Amino acid sequence: MVDARLDPDRLRERLRSLDDLAAGAPPSDIEVVRAPGRVNLIGEHTDYNDGFVMPAAIGLEIRLAVLATDERRVVVSLEETGETGSFDLDAIGPATGGWIDYVGGTAWALQDAGYAIRGFRAILASDLPQGAGLSSSAALEMASALALLGPDGSAVPVGDRARIGRRAENAYVGVQSGVMDQFASAGGVADHAILLDCRSLEFRPVALPLPEVRLVVCHSGSRRRLEASAYNDRLVECQRAVAAIAQLDPSVRALRDVDDELLAATRDRMDEVAFRRASHVVAENARVVETERALAAGDLASVGKLFAASHVSLRDLYEVSSPELDALVDIATSVDGVIAARLTGAGFGGSTINLVRRDRIIALREAVERDYPARTGLQATIVDVNAVDGAGWIRDGIT
Ligand code: ADP
Ligand code: MG
Repeated sequence: MVDARLDPDRLRERLRSLDDLAAGAPPSDIEVVRAPGRVNLIGEHTDYNDGFVMPAAIGLEIRLAVLATDERRVVVSLEETGETGSFDLDAIGPATGGWIDYVGGTAWALQDAGYAIRGFRAILASDLPQGAGLSSSAALEMASALALLGPDGSAVPVGDRARIGRRAENAYVGVQSGVMDQFASAGGVADHAILLDCRSLEFRPVALPLPEVRLVVCHSGSRRRLEASAYNDRLVECQRAVAAIAQLDPSVRALRDVDDELLAATRDRMDEVAFRRASHVVAENARVVETERALAAGDLASVGKLFAASHVSLRDLYEVSSPELDALVDIATSVDGVIAARLTGAGFGGSTINLVRRDRIIALREAVERDYPARTGLQATIVDVNAVDGAGWIRDGIT
């Protein structure tokens, strides 16, 4: 059941109530585009190392009701607050530090890649929490890309749209994130996760053990404190490891190209921090591939072990967990029927992903409500999410 705020007809009316331009437009001229958030099952901080990830697009999303105009200008209002952001397509200018940057950055990256884009007036509604590690930024970019490209935008390959969104985030907003979030938002497959090779952008759907097992997101209630600098530091540390390893094996371009043996052979060539970061990435890539195999074999016990190993590695080697995320994983794994639990997304706060037997979600909720506030002083939010299709225009009958 989609949040009532996202109802397409309601959004059309809200847009028409905003100003004279939209008021005069027939509702049928107002198109609605949707782009989901994502949860990453496994493969954390591997995307910008050219590695493997396993995200699923989730049924929490951003929607834009869009009225195309003849002007070379984009104007977007937030349904929730009425706040309005805008820019000229022919003079986008530098980032401002606000949410409109994700729209402006996408417009800039699309134009820079040679795409013809259009001006529009839009209203934005969302039930996807911001800064929760569920990629609201990528959802905003992928919704904006379609709004800018128009109805034919869905024909632009998912990988191309994802690369555009990544460029917006890297070069315009200034976060050196990988391509996973945008790819998942644009290319998700209903009822599946996807195994994505972040170098080639080849991907395949991974069937989930639905409906007996559900994807449950626990938001820690502490906003993801991902300073751009902390994220960018990790990238630099990984690059330091790559440079050291490439002295021995010049074919190595990214940590994706490194295995345990090569890492062990080059350990003395790098500093301790670079070695810890590389150790995480090399093992995490292998865990993604193993998780796909375990899911295909119905071996949920192994999936649980792989998630646990991923969390420990992110906590101790990559150092991106938080006391809140550790507490959530600890509480969840003590509940019978929770198959797997780990932090999801970049870390530093945000959310955990849990694979939970459907009839045990209530037990998880009770355990978190009982133990989490006592351990952290915070309230967690628990959401049982569907895996949904990637971004697109809302056509007849789909709400
Ligand atoms: P995450 O992608 O994990 O949610 P980010 O910090 O990368 O966290 O992106 C969050 C930012 O994206 C917000 O600070 C805001 O600028 C923008 N954003 C996302 N959703 C919305 C929304 N519904 N309305 C306005 N801005 C949004
Ligand atoms: Mg983000």
